[in-house]
Amino acid sequence: MARGGSFTPMPAQSYLTPTTWDAALSALQQPGALPASGGTDLVPLMRDGIVDPETLVDLRHLPRGREIALDTDGNLRIGAAVTLDTLAHDPLIAAHAPALALAAASVGSQPLREAGTLGGNLCQRVRCWYYRGNHPCLRRGGNLCSAEIGENQYHGIFRTGGCVVAHPSDCAVALAAYEATIDVRGASGARAVPMREFLVPSSARLDQETSLGAGEVVEAVVVPAGSLGGQQVFIKQMQRAAWDFALVSIAATRRNDSEVRLVLGGVANVPWRVTDSIEEDVASGGLSDDDIETLAQRALYDATPLSGNAYKLDIAAALLRRAIARLARA
Ligand SMILES: Cc1cc2nc3c(=O)[nH]c(=O)nc-3n(C[C@H](O)[C@H](O)[C@H](O)COP(=O)(O)OP(=O)(O)OC[C@H]3O[C@@H](n4cnc5c(N)ncnc54)[C@H](O)[C@@H]3O)c2cc1C
Repeated sequence: MARGGSFTPMPAQSYLTPTTWDAALSALQQPGALPASGGTDLVPLMRDGIVDPETLVDLRHLPRGREIALDTDGNLRIGAAVTLDTLAHDPLIAAHAPALALAAASVGSQPLREAGTLGGNLCQRVRCWYYRGNHPCLRRGGNLCSAEIGENQYHGIFRTGGCVVAHPSDCAVALAAYEATIDVRGASGARAVPMREFLVPSSARLDQETSLGAGEVVEAVVVPAGSLGGQQVFIKQMQRAAWDFALVSIAATRRNDSEVRLVLGGVANVPWRVTDSIEEDVASGGLSDDDIETLAQRALYDATPLSGNAYKLDIAAALLRRAIARLARA
């Protein structure tokens, strides 16, 4: 795919490129309309018959969609159509939100980052082979999670509902650590959704992974001023060195007010924030190696790995140790 370029939609009847929000939201209200950005997940979903849109509404030409800017309150606003490659290299992101830059840089491959957008990254569908392979799993209307009794080595180790898939978005992990807000727009207006409510666990709903209502889309992501800067860590462990989803990842921040946030990826339906008592212990500092080991184990105390993924406990513990040590000793 070309840099920021277009894709050829597969069977959709029409493909719209609105340049105003009125036009985009009105198009999205038509039956069978779906939002589209870089198409790196959407086209495979269409090819696999998971979605069958009549109209694709390309959201990449809307006002401020590709803008990255600090607002007057010092919050960092990132348009939903900003590509992952831009996120990985933008000087403002590097200066204020380096964990997000690292998360974006870790996604897939260079062509994928050049086409894929932040909005699409947050709204991508889950990567379970049963779901994608048209198996009658819970998300496909079946009455059991095929992965729970089948092949589950890449799935979650914390239970967040009947479906045990791990959310695939790398950017979501950093944004959860920032306690970012997602600016959402729909025909009935605009609203700001806290990141912890934007991605929803399978206990809440199975038909989608976000709390977006019908016809609603992501307009921008806002990282609050208090989460910018400080110390930031993002580490992603993959099975192979590139072009892969996280087995486990971690975003860890020590904000300028000294508060610590620790969020794991690849372990649950949603980014998994460790309990705040552990974050407080890390924030208080003065940690020995034994203390760090104890905190890492405490963070994983409630994990219930599946038949094929207990190895994720070791990876998560290792990433927690590395991230805590970096925050504690910098
Ligand atoms: C080989 C491969 C490897 C990958 N590796 C990774 C990885 O390592 N880490 C990772 O995080 N992801 C990975 N991905 C997933 C994904 O393709 C990218 O993360 C990308 O960011 C998706 O963005 P997009 O703009 O292409 O979204 P699209 O494909 O255009 O859309 C994805 C979904 O979001 C919806 N959508 C798009 N934009 C919006 C919006 N603004 N508001 C509401 N809904 C919207 C679409 O309807 C669709 O359902 C990978 C994908 C592939 C094919």
